[in-house]
Amino acid sequence: MDVSIRNVRKEFDRFPALRDVSLDIRSGELIALLGPSGSGKTTLLRLIAGLERPTEGAVFFGDEDASHKSVQERNVGFVFQHYALFRYMTVADNIGFGLKVRPGATRPPSAEIRRRASELLDLVQLSGLEKRYPNQLSGGQRQRVALARALAIEPKVLLLDEPFGALDAQVRRELRRWLREIHDTTGHTTVFVTHDQEEALELADRVVVMSQGRIEQVGTADEVYDTPNSPFVYGFIGESSSLPVRVEGGQLWLQDRTLGLTAEDVPDGDATLYFRPHDVELITDGCGGCIAGTVAASRRVAGTRRVELEIGGDRHRVEIELPIEHPAAQKNRVAFRPRRWRVFSESGAVGG
Ligand code: ADP
Ligand code: MG
Repeated sequence: MDVSIRNVRKEFDRFPALRDVSLDIRSGELIALLGPSGSGKTTLLRLIAGLERPTEGAVFFGDEDASHKSVQERNVGFVFQHYALFRYMTVADNIGFGLKVRPGATRPPSAEIRRRASELLDLVQLSGLEKRYPNQLSGGQRQRVALARALAIEPKVLLLDEPFGALDAQVRRELRRWLREIHDTTGHTTVFVTHDQEEALELADRVVVMSQGRIEQVGTADEVYDTPNSPFVYGFIGESSSLPVRVEGGQLWLQDRTLGLTAEDVPDGDATLYFRPHDVELITDGCGGCIAGTVAASRRVAGTRRVELEIGGDRHRVEIELPIEHPAAQKNRVAFRPRRWRVFSESGAVGG
């Protein structure tokens, strides 16, 4: 089912939790809503579900305006971070619950509900556990049961709000891969909320980066990582270093030195250059058109060395990554050129 969010604004006591959000989710797609706490991810998910009504704008399911339809009419499945299973029901009863509470004519016979529960337990790789109670399961197993319960009603859209947020890192990584496999098997249109960029990049077909009630960027993992369209996205997804530069006739200048980088569409004036600390090329034979600095600090991070360079006296510091064997002693000069970079002007123009 395609879901289309059209110019949605959502206020709580006049506080805008979402401001003019538009997004087209394609049928069968796995979308991640990624952003810091308070950016409006849960609110957007609840609007898709029908748990909230937009203050302005509309939510379409296919060609139909669903803005005023109930949760049941929209037929969505949910999993939340702390969506407790029913404690006094077995795993099988938990999974079958959504079917059992359907109004008379649409309720499948109990044998059919049992069959479906057992099929879903297979799918989430928990077969044999139908008679267990939630307190006899690990956290990861409980979230799998929660997913099976959400899938039991054959939802048009599956909505997951930080479903692995409460689990430890290792289990999270396993469940992430597992969820991707389940998605590829079942093909449900899925919206997945997370504040964890690694999770979003690994899992999703497209990532929606949110900040302060707005969508900052929508794109594949490669697009949002390699070509962030704002300083916010640069900083939030992956690591970034930045330097104030000047643009003159499409050339980038750092103080009195040209960097050999061109940004034709960026107007003359002050701007900020962004790049990834690991995505730099070291220059060893003279620095015509590169960035040079003095090592101010150096530390080991896993298999690489991170150094902080002072650029142009002590006015600016940038972090870059060097091979572990690099002799990055204090006061050493290091010259480099960013391999991939972007420049953001004060007027909002983007280059690189
Ligand atoms: P996220 O899920 O990204 O952490 P939320 O969608 O939960 O963000 O919240 C976005 C903003 O809206 C926050 O500032 C939050 O305090 C506010 N908010 C969310 N729900 C309510 C509510 N029911 N009443 C008042 N403010 C709310
Ligand atoms: Mg939230």
